[in-house]
Amino acid sequence: MHLPLFRIFLFLLTFSHAVSATPPQVVVSIAPIHAITSAVMRGIASPKLLIEARTSPHDFHLRPSQLIALQSADLFIWVSPILEQGLAKVSARSSMQEKSLTLLEQAVIKKLKAREAGIWEDEKNHHNAQVDPHIWLSPSNAIEIARIITKRLSDIDSINIVHYRENLASFEQKVTMLEQVINTEFNLKGMPSYLVLHDAFQYFEKYFKLPAAGAVSIDPEHSPGVRRIQTLRNYIREHDIGCIFREPQLSDRMLNSISQGLEIQTGILDPIGNEGDSYTQLIQSLSQQLRNCKTSAE
Ligand SMILES: [Zn+2]
Repeated sequence: MHLPLFRIFLFLLTFSHAVSATPPQVVVSIAPIHAITSAVMRGIASPKLLIEARTSPHDFHLRPSQLIALQSADLFIWVSPILEQGLAKVSARSSMQEKSLTLLEQAVIKKLKAREAGIWEDEKNHHNAQVDPHIWLSPSNAIEIARIITKRLSDIDSINIVHYRENLASFEQKVTMLEQVINTEFNLKGMPSYLVLHDAFQYFEKYFKLPAAGAVSIDPEHSPGVRRIQTLRNYIREHDIGCIFREPQLSDRMLNSISQGLEIQTGILDPIGNEGDSYTQLIQSLSQQLRNCKTSAE
């Protein structure tokens, strides 16, 4: 078969364009940061999520297949060795350093200290206050994270720079509206005092002005012991705590041992969300989870 020359030429042109425009392979550690990255990369490529949404980032161990994904990535986005401790070693390798984007190290991200007073600590907890790494739960930080990712992607994939910037603008617009959406649709004013499972929600609490009374577990990798449970039960009685939340990766058995016989609602508060959810869905789900407790306490 004889193709006219110009069609061959067109074919080659398309082909060469496709090759040079191969978007970067991006690996992201946790689901909420993956959601933000996906928003920036929309229509260009899909980033890969490393840690499944149901696995706690504090308690994660790298599998060989995940190591391969990291090694072949062009860009690896994660929060910090404080959060994804299981990734600290591999990220320190010289082959990883140049392509790693460590969000907690970025100056524009607003950081809060982990809480350390009253019921937020117990006698075993003597470590110095460190930065609270759950930075994505503040919508203003989420916008900064999206900007940092956009800049980094534009540096390594300048062909798609216009798309990244358009996606960023649309993400910023959605997130800017969040505060209003939460305040009108979820009405969280008058929430009873509540305890969270671990000190993960501070950025959300500050942004939406809904401070938690304390955390059940000081160390996110360990369940509270008998003494801690007794301390919590006393605290709940004395401070009129209305709700206590666990996280989805843990069974409710532990919460039951705390709440048994007390007038307190139990619920789930999830700082990670589901894989595939957008960032605004994550924040709206959190608000709804808080609201469930408020409604049942009314
Ligand atoms: Zn955490």
